[in-house]
Amino acid sequence: MDSDSMAPGEVIYSEEDIAQRTAGLAREINAAIPDGNLHVIITQKGALYFGVDLIRALGRRVTIGFITASSYGDGMESSGEVQLRSEDTGEITARRVLIVEDIIDTGRTLQSVVNTIRSRKPASVHTVAFIDKPARREVAIDADFVGFSAEDVFLVGYGLDHAEAYRELPCIRSFEP
Ligand code: 5GP
Ligand code: MG
Repeated sequence: MDSDSMAPGEVIYSEEDIAQRTAGLAREINAAIPDGNLHVIITQKGALYFGVDLIRALGRRVTIGFITASSYGDGMESSGEVQLRSEDTGEITARRVLIVEDIIDTGRTLQSVVNTIRSRKPASVHTVAFIDKPARREVAIDADFVGFSAEDVFLVGYGLDHAEAYRELPCIRSFEP
């Protein structure tokens, strides 16, 4: 389909849905990972909004790093090839790491992010994805914590883009003709 004729459509997750679920995830994560420092690695750019809101909701001591993953280019289908830039992850060795991802689709992005982080010998690695699309999985990987399980529709807003547009939308919408 020609994506020029498409636009943000119906609200899939409202601002209130997002805030409530983020608070719930923070409680789950705090219960599962005991007190002390947590090194939170946000995958850019899609998980920026969720990552910052989650850190606020966690309300505990954190340090923050970033990893930049891209597999989509300007399209709506994963190219299958994940490109990672990992120079801003911060110190990982012997630390407890929480990887924050926006969406798990085929699973390739999370898999390569986890492999890259693990190769630097952290004390532990946990993963949280705001949205899971289990129908499209191509590699066997799941996040430890999942916000919402979604249908196979392309989503924009709350950090999620189409060709870099729509990240600023306060809620998550479908992207449709
Ligand atoms: P995977 O490697 O699991 O196929 O793809 C994961 C990445 O693709 C996510 O981190 C996200 O950046 C992007 N992605 C997957 N589904 C969507 C979607 O519905 N909307 C947007 N904007 N990005 C998506
Ligand atoms: Mg992403």
